[in-house]
Amino acid sequence: MQSLRDLLQEAQKNGVAIGHFNISDLVLLKAVFAGAQELKLPVLVGLSEGEREFVGVRQIAALVKSLREEFDYPIFLNADHTHSLAKGVEAAKAGFDSIVFDLSALPFEENIRQTKQAVEALKAINPSMLVEGEIGDIGTGSEIHDHAPDLKKGLSTPAEAKQFVDGTGVDILAPAVGNMHGMLMSMVEGETKKHLDIERIGAIKKAAGVFMTLHGGSGTDDGDLHKAIAGGINIVHVNTELRVAWRHGLEQGLAKHPEEVVPYKILPPAVDAVKEVVLSRLRVFNGGRHFAQGV
Ligand SMILES: [Zn+2]
Repeated sequence: MQSLRDLLQEAQKNGVAIGHFNISDLVLLKAVFAGAQELKLPVLVGLSEGEREFVGVRQIAALVKSLREEFDYPIFLNADHTHSLAKGVEAAKAGFDSIVFDLSALPFEENIRQTKQAVEALKAINPSMLVEGEIGDIGTGSEIHDHAPDLKKGLSTPAEAKQFVDGTGVDILAPAVGNMHGMLMSMVEGETKKHLDIERIGAIKKAAGVFMTLHGGSGTDDGDLHKAIAGGINIVHVNTELRVAWRHGLEQGLAKHPEEVVPYKILPPAVDAVKEVVLSRLRVFNGGRHFAQGV
């Protein structure tokens, strides 16, 4: 089977991006896997520190490995937003394929110093693990926010991106390019969309020359996503949209069966609702082509 690095290379060549979907239970994992399988596309599932704490680090690694092996399928596991080397080492030892090592809240030089240390330590455990570093400020929390943060102050520059990549040896860079974590209620309702700084994405790609991830993909304008991917984004993260669908699906399942207590009879609408989001996002990341990469 192709490695995650090979698949990123292929996605870059084809002008498409790999979808990264956050999960924190079996409903979400089932839905993401079913959506990817239906379109025959490789997929990344990610868990932040909080999500990992809920599911279990070794437990989710075993689940994803079982899907990969039983279905001979390119599903990969990412340790999303990891803020300490100890948590990174835990994920590397459990067999995660990649990690988002996020010290973007620290001063820039300190972020470089500690990310470099993490790259070395994690690759000593698993040389093929891909390490992503974060620069700039895109806010925290994949949830529904009352106010939009001021993104302008935290935007990344091409010079910073180059300095960071050269100084750390990361495989993947996550810059701040107008994206933000979470959604506003107006985005959940579809009245407004996030927009990206497309020019900045192209300039950062040229300067940094590594794979790039777009965080906070939920609620982003489809056209902007196409342009961002054409400009050098290789992975797009979606979390909040899935969480909203999960909740709506769960509410539907409960409303449909008010007396039911059997989880596997209540939960299917939640799986379906999340899967619909996964399908529609994967289509956008693949330029509307359903089988662009063909597993
Ligand atoms: Zn993120």
